[in-house]
Amino acid sequence: MKITMVKKIMEDGKECKKCGEVYERLKAGNELGLIDNIVTADVRDSRSEGHKLVKKYNVDIAPFFIVEDADNVTIYKTYMELKRKVLKKVVEEADVDIEERRKAGTEERSIDIFHSVPSKKSISRSDYDIEKLNKEFENSTPQEVLEWGLKELHPSIALAWSGAEDVAVVDMMVKINPQARIFTLDTGRLNPETYNLIDKVRQKYGINIEVLFPNAAETEEMVRTKGVNLFYHSVENRSLCCNVRKVKPLKGMLSTLNGWITGLRRDQAVTRIASKKVEIDENFGGIIKLNPLADWTHKEVWDYIHKNDVPYNALHDKGYPSIGCAPCTRAVESGEDIRAGRWWWESPESKECGLHVNSK
Ligand code: SF4
Repeated sequence: MKITMVKKIMEDGKECKKCGEVYERLKAGNELGLIDNIVTADVRDSRSEGHKLVKKYNVDIAPFFIVEDADNVTIYKTYMELKRKVLKKVVEEADVDIEERRKAGTEERSIDIFHSVPSKKSISRSDYDIEKLNKEFENSTPQEVLEWGLKELHPSIALAWSGAEDVAVVDMMVKINPQARIFTLDTGRLNPETYNLIDKVRQKYGINIEVLFPNAAETEEMVRTKGVNLFYHSVENRSLCCNVRKVKPLKGMLSTLNGWITGLRRDQAVTRIASKKVEIDENFGGIIKLNPLADWTHKEVWDYIHKNDVPYNALHDKGYPSIGCAPCTRAVESGEDIRAGRWWWESPESKECGLHVNSK
C-alpha cells in the first residue's frame, strides 16, 4: 500500500492552513511515518507534482490523500476518514504482526523501540555492526554512504537540512532518489536568506521539504517568562531556546523515523571531531545517524557546490561560514574559526544546540 498526501501551497508561498493542521495531527499521532509521499500542489505552478494529481483525480479540496493498494486507488478527502479507514488498519495489522512474532519468540529488540511508531521496516541494533560499517565506509564517498542509507531505510530515513552548506547533501540525495525525504527546522528566528534558499531548493529540485515548527504554546510561554532574546543572558537560557525551537521539533520528527542524515563534519567544531559516518543516536531513541560528509573539508564541500551548481545561502557570500538562527549567527573575520560566528558569546565547548550529542 502506498499513501500520498497532497498539500496546497498558496499564492503567498505559504502552505494552506488546513494542510498545516492535518500535518500536525499526523505528527502528533505518530502517523507521519505511515505516509509514503508528501507532494505539494502549488497554485503558482501548474507543473507542480501535486497540481498534476489534483487534475488527475479531480479533487477540489486540500489536503487530500491518495491510497494505492494493488490495482485500487482511493481518494480520501479528510484526515478522519483516512485515519478511520486506512491508518487504524495499518497500525492494527502492525500490532498483530508484532504480537505474532512475540508469541513465536522471534521479535527483535527494536520492536519495543519503534512500537509506538509502526514503521515500514523494524530495525534492530544488532542488524548493524556500526564498527564494521565505519571501516567499510572509511574511504567511501558521501554518495556511497547515502546510497547505503537510502537503500536500507527509505522512507524511514530523512535529512535534517539546516539551510546552510549541507545543501550539498540535498543535491546528492535527490540525485540518488528523487523521493528522498528532507526536513528542516523553522525556529521562527531564521534569516530571510535562509527562507529564500529553502524555496529556491524546493523549486530547483521539484521536491517537498518538510518544514517543522516549534510548539506555539511552549514558545509563547518561554518568551513571556524569559524575554524574546533570552539566549544572550546565559548558556542555560540559550539551551532552553534551542531545546524549544530545535530539539523538541526534531525529537518529534525522529520519533517517526528509523534513521536520520546530517551534514555534520569533523572539521566544523571541537565538539564534532569524533563524528563517524554511521552512528547509533542514543539521544533520539537509538536510531541510525548518517554523517556522509564527516571526513569532508570545508573546501571539498564548496568545490562540490560550485561544480554541481547547487544553490546556496546568500549569507555565505557575506562572511557567514556557518549559519543558524539570525540572532545567534554573525559574519566572521578572515582567519577566524568557521564556528566563531555561532553563539560567539559562549566558549567553544558549549557551542552545540543539542541536536548532535552523545552518538555512538
Ligand atoms: S540558535 Fe538562538 S534563536 Fe535559534 S533556537 Fe538556538 S538560541 Fe534560539
